[in-house]
Amino acid sequence: MTRKKVLVTGGAGFVGSHLCDRLLKEGNEVFCLDNFFTGQKQNIVHLLGNPFFELIRHDVTAPFFIEADEIYNLACPASPVHYQYNAIKTMKTSVMGAINMLGLAKRIKAKILQASTSEVYGDPLVHPQPETYWGHVNPIGERSCYDEGKRSAETLFVNYHKQNHVKIKIIRIFNTYGPRMHPNDGRVVSNFIVQALQNHDITIYGEGQQTRSFQYVDDLVEGMVRMMASPDPFTGPVNIGNPNEFTILELAEKVIQLTGSTSTIINKPLPPDDPMMRQPDIALAKKELGWAPTVELEEGLIKTIAYFKELI
Ligand code: NAD
Ligand code: UDP
Repeated sequence: MTRKKVLVTGGAGFVGSHLCDRLLKEGNEVFCLDNFFTGQKQNIVHLLGNPFFELIRHDVTAPFFIEADEIYNLACPASPVHYQYNAIKTMKTSVMGAINMLGLAKRIKAKILQASTSEVYGDPLVHPQPETYWGHVNPIGERSCYDEGKRSAETLFVNYHKQNHVKIKIIRIFNTYGPRMHPNDGRVVSNFIVQALQNHDITIYGEGQQTRSFQYVDDLVEGMVRMMASPDPFTGPVNIGNPNEFTILELAEKVIQLTGSTSTIINKPLPPDDPMMRQPDIALAKKELGWAPTVELEEGLIKTIAYFKELI
């Protein structure tokens, strides 16, 4: 077995910490870089005694140098509440973070994977969304710091590949949930579970008829690792998500049922530009990576509810 040196930016976040676990389990040496904007020490505290794990407090908007074989670039707040808190910083994180990490990858000849997003499709006019769809994004809306930041990052990745022959991999991640989401993360699955467990009102934005397709975090990590290991000519972008689509109302009802909560559902205003529907077309991931999700919503929710029950 060869022990690879792997840099994970955003490694103390929800997804990043699961990825660090997986990479260490496979016998790699992991450098976890994070500025702790939305990440938490708690997510990686169990790894701190591992001599093959290193935690580095750093902001990806500043250059960073290390020797590594592979880089997973996850640093970026992902919840609308957090990425809108400082829109300029979010855009800098995506764009300058990509430039700094691509520059590093070029210099040290590392392979680099970008955690892009289904948000590049915006409020989609094509359903489900294949990778060939260019998207429908408002460039000056409240979500644009995130959507356009991630779109620019994709552009940078593709051009570093074309011009500088950097080995790149781009995945477009669809809504992912699971243990280690922050209770105040603000995304729908954690909000609903935390509200249900406390018997507080469940806040549906709008009428709850908008849809999302929810992926359990273990499936995403499997997709990331497979994408990084995929043969070189394949750069993506490739969708990584669970195609099972639910309305937000259905999600709320499922969470109430699984928690046995006495919460009532209330409606709050729908935020501007909130996408009406979202479902990945995963034919490309199946073909190129032999990947498909294996954890269905109920099973994943049960595990996530158990995590939050312990936490709160
Ligand atoms: P998260 O907020 O839990 O994790 C993001 C991590 O990046 C945090 O640890 C945060 O502290 C760190 N970070 C933010 N800005 C940084 C900066 N400037 N420098 C260094 N570190 C910084 O979110 P997550 O759900 O784990 O998302 C991880 C990645 O996956 C993000 O890039 C996100 O855009 C992408 N993604 C996630 C989802 C999802 O549903 N979870 C969907 C699409 C894309
Ligand atoms: N949402 C909701 N109540 C909440 C949080 C979110 O109804 O407490 C809705 C939100 O308006 C959106 C969907 O759930 O339509 C998914 O929101 P999230 O922030 O999780 O992800 P994204 O909109 O980025 O897909």
